[in-house]
Amino acid sequence: MNTKIWLSSPHMSGKEQQYIDDAFKSNWIAPLGPNVTGFESDIQSYLGEGSNVAVLSSGTAAIHLGLVLLGVAKGDEVICQSKTFSASANPIAYLGATPIFVDSESDTWNICPEQLEIAIKDRIAKGKKPKAIIAVHLYGMPYKVSEINRVAETYNIPVLEDSAEALGSTYSNEKCGTFGTISILSFNGNKIITTSGGGALVTKDKSIKDKAVFLATQARDNAVEYLHSQIGYNYRMSNVIAGIGRGQMQVIDNRVELRRQNYNFYESHLKNINEITFLSEPKGHFSNRWLSCILTNSEKTREGLRIALEKENIESRPLWKPMHQQPVFLECPKYLNGVSDDLFKKGLCLPSGSNLTDNEKNRVLSTIQAYFDN
Ligand SMILES: *Cc1c(COP(=O)(O)O)cnc(C)c1O
Repeated sequence: MNTKIWLSSPHMSGKEQQYIDDAFKSNWIAPLGPNVTGFESDIQSYLGEGSNVAVLSSGTAAIHLGLVLLGVAKGDEVICQSKTFSASANPIAYLGATPIFVDSESDTWNICPEQLEIAIKDRIAKGKKPKAIIAVHLYGMPYKVSEINRVAETYNIPVLEDSAEALGSTYSNEKCGTFGTISILSFNGNKIITTSGGGALVTKDKSIKDKAVFLATQARDNAVEYLHSQIGYNYRMSNVIAGIGRGQMQVIDNRVELRRQNYNFYESHLKNINEITFLSEPKGHFSNRWLSCILTNSEKTREGLRIALEKENIESRPLWKPMHQQPVFLECPKYLNGVSDDLFKKGLCLPSGSNLTDNEKNRVLSTIQAYFDN
């Protein structure tokens, strides 16, 4: 059997171990310490002037805290891009609020500005103005930031920017992770850089960051005894794994470059196959190409190709199944135009790790070519 080719596996730089050793030598084995503050300032420098970063235990925790900080509570409604990973939507349910799912447009596969406005108007007409909008840069492709912000501003609704897949992507030359009232990042094992598991909340407003850290450390009031006047969470990042993050931040630009090279490799070699199309970058959108995705001409072709790859021990995956199709969310209101359902039928994510070898990429390529030759 050929060795397994993974969809997206961790890629260490070799610089991580030193930071972990430092944590052990100084006994900062806790959810605070020099690696935590160092990792935060590394991310702040990378994202640019004015970003305040709180590193947390996961991207999901960051979304949960973000919604709390935006005032989302039981009975509220929160708009969420339907085409995404479940972690974007689950925290809405943690709070006893209702997700309102909105479909995608086909230029970026992300939340459609027209459907968004239709949804907001309809929810207001039905008696509840949505508390927040969760917009996602899927597979690293920035959503239509200006259009979405225009709608959000018209109705005065804050945007929670889910940039879990888009560290290193830019829109109009500005980094993803800087566009929301609150933005979030993920450092899960499969993301463009990883701390094994982890996340961050990003905001231009320093007081929001301070509040996030307060809530993430059990909401302890400033008193000698343990005094609590709010519900808190245990969501801070460990100083040990923050050390992995410090090592990873040193190579982030290289990782973006390598992921983009993967995409260019697939596109240049596969574009002549009639049954396959690619998502190119609209003007002003620069994608980190976290995952290289293709669209086939039908569900049958997509599934046939997926199985052909699996037989060669190559992992691939259909594009995210839209949240409005998930059994757990079937009852939630939704505003659809057919785009995300169609993408789910036809789309496939190909192996995309920054540590793929030429030999592995050629194995993927020849398997795809052989499938369409037959
Ligand atoms: C990975 C991911 C998350 C969640 O991040 P975790 O760190 O795994 O909790 C949220 N949203 C999207 C779009 C993701 O891909």
